[in-house]
Amino acid sequence: MGKRAVVIGSGIGGSGAAALLAGAGYEVTLLEGRPFAGGRCASLEKEGFRYDFGVHMFSRGDKGPLGEINRRSGGDLRWVTHEWPCHIMGRMEFDFPLDINSLLRQFYLARKLGVRPRNYPGAFRLFLDLMGGKGVEENDGVVLEYYVSRYTDDETVHLFVNCVSQLYFAQSYRESSAGEFLWCFSRMFKGASFGYPVGGGGAVPESYVGSAERLGGRALFGEEATRIVVEGGRVRGVETCAGTYPADLVISNLGMRNTVYLSGRENFPEEYVERAEGLKDSNAYVTIKYALDREVVPYPVVFYMPHLAPEKVFEYIEKREVPEEPYIFMPVPTNHDPGLAPPGKQLVIAGTAAPADASDELCDAILDRVHAQVCEIFPDLEGAMLWESRSTGADVRELTGHRAGECIGLAQVPGQVGRDRPDHATPVEGLYLVGADAGARGIGTEMAAGSALALVETLTRQD
Ligand SMILES: Cc1cc2nc3c(=O)[nH]c(=O)nc-3n(C[C@H](O)[C@H](O)[C@H](O)COP(=O)(O)OP(=O)(O)OC[C@H]3O[C@@H](n4cnc5c(N)ncnc54)[C@H](O)[C@@H]3O)c2cc1C
Repeated sequence: MGKRAVVIGSGIGGSGAAALLAGAGYEVTLLEGRPFAGGRCASLEKEGFRYDFGVHMFSRGDKGPLGEINRRSGGDLRWVTHEWPCHIMGRMEFDFPLDINSLLRQFYLARKLGVRPRNYPGAFRLFLDLMGGKGVEENDGVVLEYYVSRYTDDETVHLFVNCVSQLYFAQSYRESSAGEFLWCFSRMFKGASFGYPVGGGGAVPESYVGSAERLGGRALFGEEATRIVVEGGRVRGVETCAGTYPADLVISNLGMRNTVYLSGRENFPEEYVERAEGLKDSNAYVTIKYALDREVVPYPVVFYMPHLAPEKVFEYIEKREVPEEPYIFMPVPTNHDPGLAPPGKQLVIAGTAAPADASDELCDAILDRVHAQVCEIFPDLEGAMLWESRSTGADVRELTGHRAGECIGLAQVPGQVGRDRPDHATPVEGLYLVGADAGARGIGTEMAAGSALALVETLTRQD
């Protein structure tokens, strides 16, 4: 028999780790508090529509760590990509291509974004460096706005990078780490595999759980871990309302803070607890899912860029106000997989950033503003609506048990990325962290998957 590994939580990190560990010969038990898999990347069902809990697109799809876990564990995930995946609207309007590696495409982008011709040299140098992805570590501690300013003061370039930063990290470019952005941007655009899985976002963690089970592991749903048992500085197992699961290894997908609470603060050095308490979380995303009785939006994804100055566009988050004109990220899942809705119907999801701990009233007011903007750009949407469903940071808080309703996880800001991201290993022997908050780089789900890959590589190397 292999080592007994108990994985707590079936988010992308937890389910990915369970599949990889089962494949590596561990005796795996996956404990998930909810009746469904996937955490923030779960899919839910209503009246024949299958929609994402969040508002998801996948930066590198099959070519990144999400695809790598699928391949290593013999999964059945399939991805859909489009040659022109994203329609930009608002301040400028054009189709954004999947592949921007050629000079011709880069020139097209500069023109469509409205970069002033006198700013072309700086904008192209920035673009080349972002695509090259060099100097990640030396720029981990640099704020992205400052990094962009080294190349150009062109307003549309700044607005574009700021909106992409909010899209990648749920964080304005006035806070994000330039090194982390370089890492993500270069890989996403070199890979040219931005896409969406058949079956919706939830198909990814569900497929990983399926692989873990096929490889001999077991997954137990509705089993909330109530205590991680630690004795003599070593992990011994996990307690749930249903019983105790002895373990040689416990892999926690709950984030650093909740893992400390569940294990007992007294089992960690004071500075570890202080660090866990002091880490900054990303912003939340608030979303509206639209179930439509016909096709209204003809694009795979819409990205709405406001007519605002770059430094103003996310000011409403700091001020805790309703945005004057919201930036909107709007994937259309049924334009990737029509099976996510009954025949002829369309599923559209619109989301924007909000403070992680915003009140329900503020979230609702932000979403009213998003809805008004969506109806302005697609006037037929209102008349085609069968139902809408909203989600906010409070739903994320309830799902993850985290104190903030953060979208991504720990904020990808200087001091919290690269070498400074919390490590998988904890001061408790045999207790490890996995997920968006531990030991990896990337965009949301790919960071969580990268974390699972890196953790399992470390563990299997140690054996
Ligand atoms: C609105 C929104 C939009 C997003 N958009 C994107 C996007 O476009 N692209 C992208 O890549 N990423 C996106 N993300 C981010 C991405 O979903 C997350 O970064 C990623 O899914 C986090 O995975 P994780 O492994 O950290 O686990 P989590 O999702 O945090 O899952 C943790 C799991 O642990 C379970 N759990 C908690 N406590 C217990 C307990 N005590 N016992 C047992 N189980 C427990 C939870 O039920 C959950 O299943 C978005 C997120 C949100 C919310």
